Amino acid sequence: KLYNQIQDLRGNIRVYCRVRPFLPGQTCNASTIGRIDDGTITIITPAKYSKEGRKSFTFNKVFGPSATQEEVFSDTQPLIRSVLDGYNVCIFAYGQTGSGKTHTMSGPNELTEQSLGVNYRALNDLFYLSEQRRDTFCYEITVQMIEIYNEQVRDLLASDGVTKRLEIRNSSQKGLAVPDASMVPVTSTSEVIELMNLGQRNRVVSATAMNDRSSRSHSCLTVHVQGRDLTSGAVLRGCMHLVDLAGSERVDKSEVRGDRLKEAQHINKSLSALGDVIASLAQKNSHVPYRNSKLTQLLQDSLGGQAKTLMFVHISPEMDAIGETLSTLKFAERVA
Ligand code: ADP
Ligand code: MG
Repeated sequence: KLYNQIQDLRGNIRVYCRVRPFLPGQTCNASTIGRIDDGTITIITPAKYSKEGRKSFTFNKVFGPSATQEEVFSDTQPLIRSVLDGYNVCIFAYGQTGSGKTHTMSGPNELTEQSLGVNYRALNDLFYLSEQRRDTFCYEITVQMIEIYNEQVRDLLASDGVTKRLEIRNSSQKGLAVPDASMVPVTSTSEVIELMNLGQRNRVVSATAMNDRSSRSHSCLTVHVQGRDLTSGAVLRGCMHLVDLAGSERVDKSEVRGDRLKEAQHINKSLSALGDVIASLAQKNSHVPYRNSKLTQLLQDSLGGQAKTLMFVHISPEMDAIGETLSTLKFAERVA
């Protein structure tokens, strides 16, 4: 309750920056990371990018390369609790391919208890808290998992592995944003892990013609929570979208053509549409341009109003990523 009041005063959009460590075997590479001071990060830049040789950016928080999954999650926890109180929450991972989006959301390929990402920890918390409240509330938790690729929405939880194309409902109707996507009731984190694995497999199956589709599509795990107050019978509904965005890197138009260029244009369009929506919410504009992409249409009810948004922006520390790092931080600064 108190947290929600504090959040309302501060606004409902938070931006956290996370810096990936150097990967094994990469250590002789020069780093662009200067100073990290609570919410401010200073980037060392070649002269070409700034006269001073450095640029600073300020966010709600900056996690340096040594931040653990647990530390990153601990600031997210209050948001998870608000879902049980009937709020809608969106958590995004933004950044160029290889900057650590999937690491933050899911974790590395070889999962250990310490390396579990935000998705698992968030669900663990939801189950734990709903259990704690079971004398007063009866909660039902269901999940959907979809992918947006080339502005087409697909179901990742189809049990037959057929990732059929789905429509997003008209925003004037009430109810689910994607009513035809598989809805699976869950009662434990391990069931959700199974489902996420199924979702990953379905993503891979449809990727035969392209290598690493995961970096060129958005994936969204949506957790719907319905709580019935056992005394009054009143029903609360909240949902949480956990979104691993497509890589934000720009492609060189002179080098790619055909399908690859089309993909890049779709990603570009949807990430800028997301930036435009969040920036106009942060500025409290009366017109919010939700209609410009499938991603923002899908999340319309969970962006703005009483909903809470958390964006993790990821950067790589290497000097050769400096161009993308600066463009990522500029994007993030615009929505913060
Ligand atoms: P993205 O999803 O943005 O393309 P990944 O999450 O796949 O990037 O990260 C790229 C590589 O870096 C992976 O091998 C991942 O395990 C590793 N990595 C990313 N972030 C971290 C981190 N904070 N600590 C350790 N390894 C990381
Ligand atoms: Mg990834």
